[in-house]
Amino acid sequence: MMSAVKTFDALVIGTGQAGPALAARLSGAGMKVAVVEKAKFGGTCVNDGCTPTKAMVASAYAAHLARRAGEYGVLLDSSPRVDMKRVKARKDEIVRRSSESVEKWMEGLKDATIYRGHARFVAPAEVQVGSERLVADKIFVDVGGRPLVPKMPGLDRVPYLTNVAMMDLDFVPEHLLVIGGSYVGLEFAQMFRRFGSRVTVVEMGPRLVGREDEDVSLAIHDFLRAEGIGLRLGAECLSVQKEADGVSVGVDCKEGAPRERGTHLLLAVGRVPNIDELGLEAAGIRTDKRGYIEVDDGLRTSNPRVWALGDCNGKGAFTHTAYNDYEIVADNLLSNAGRKHTDRIPVYALYTDPPLGRVGMGETEIKNNRIKALVGKRPMSRVARAVEKGETHGFLKIHVEEGSKRILGASLLGTGADEAVHSLIDAVYSKLPYLEFQRRVRIHPNVSELLPTVLENLKPL
Ligand SMILES: Cc1cc2nc3c(=O)[nH]c(=O)nc-3n(C[C@H](O)[C@H](O)[C@H](O)COP(=O)(O)OP(=O)(O)OC[C@H]3O[C@@H](n4cnc5c(N)ncnc54)[C@H](O)[C@@H]3O)c2cc1C
Repeated sequence: MMSAVKTFDALVIGTGQAGPALAARLSGAGMKVAVVEKAKFGGTCVNDGCTPTKAMVASAYAAHLARRAGEYGVLLDSSPRVDMKRVKARKDEIVRRSSESVEKWMEGLKDATIYRGHARFVAPAEVQVGSERLVADKIFVDVGGRPLVPKMPGLDRVPYLTNVAMMDLDFVPEHLLVIGGSYVGLEFAQMFRRFGSRVTVVEMGPRLVGREDEDVSLAIHDFLRAEGIGLRLGAECLSVQKEADGVSVGVDCKEGAPRERGTHLLLAVGRVPNIDELGLEAAGIRTDKRGYIEVDDGLRTSNPRVWALGDCNGKGAFTHTAYNDYEIVADNLLSNAGRKHTDRIPVYALYTDPPLGRVGMGETEIKNNRIKALVGKRPMSRVARAVEKGETHGFLKIHVEEGSKRILGASLLGTGADEAVHSLIDAVYSKLPYLEFQRRVRIHPNVSELLPTVLENLKPL
């Protein structure tokens, strides 16, 4: 039986990386707020994404370093073993605390009601959750995404894992086949190799992380291969097949064996927004050509009472972009700030070891925009801190606009690069000329201290 319609000033659907902070800010501003969550509080990042993967990357790093201990003069009496049950328990505990703190945060908000269930629009300002009908003056959609399961011959007949199912593994697969050689696939590939699996990555494109500059792809390719990870690129006609002892992937590559056999299969080929069961038509909310919720610069949808934030609007695919969406929407609503998502500069990291820290434009974008640019590059083998740590894979690369002398972007691949990139992020945001950036004193010995040196030897791109 339907209950009476309940009315709110603001309704937030989803407790990922934009929803909770927005609900808290609106409640703090005196609004009567409803929050709806259908699964675990904290969404992808907390439960199946950033938090658990980085916790597992840390365990994998510990295993890797233990194997290399002798290089540092540290002698272990036996070779290290990985207890996957304990790796999982550590990860689960970190996730549990984080998810519970989001839930408690929401439950503690002033004048807010929490609904646990699937929200669906039934009218332009009305949402149904189970038997409840909720009407709100303003509605905020933060429903995130889920792993893409592609149409692939044989996939309906073989068991496969996604980043969500990987979270339940409490054993080390004998041979993990990873379809997808991009951000998610490579993090899992390296960590499971370090846990002790044989790992083969199968990638359709001609190189790994195809969105990055070619030298970045090649360097990542080299250090993953050096760890014994099998890499099959240019696998254009993928198919999967059940085998007596596991699964095989037809890769149809130009060279090498036509099938890769393994015991477990991980699909890491992209993500899709959670909007198919949201009743968008009932609310007059349009989607764009890529299948995401269409939004304007201020993240308002085609329904003027509804905003879409986070991964479901296709304007970012990261925790920090989802959180920035919250800041934009809240500042515009509460302070009339006129903020736009289009003012955002692309920044992100890939958490392989060593990590990749990225900001702004890469080579392809610079060339496509016909920008006259200069490039400076230095291998990590010539960065004192990297040498001291015994972690010299990768390089530091910075792009500068020839005319304005502004920093256009950077790809820092090396130990500590995910942190070191932040001074360049500030420089790109503030349109700082590189000569000014060079004058600032940095701390020794640090990866960041070499960034001004990289800029001493600029060459035409
Ligand atoms: C393996 C992996 C690793 C990642 N690592 C990083 C990283 O290191 N750094 C980084 O910045 N990003 C990372 N990401 C991306 C990051 O997790 C997402 O960009 C981020 O979680 C997006 O937040 P969101 O708020 O858009 O959605 P989500 O976090 O997906 O949250 C959406 C929420 O909405 C709920 N929901 C959906 N539909 C409904 C409905 N109809 N009714 C009620 N509730 C609903 C869901 O249950 C979920 O809780 C990673 C992603 C993956 C998959």
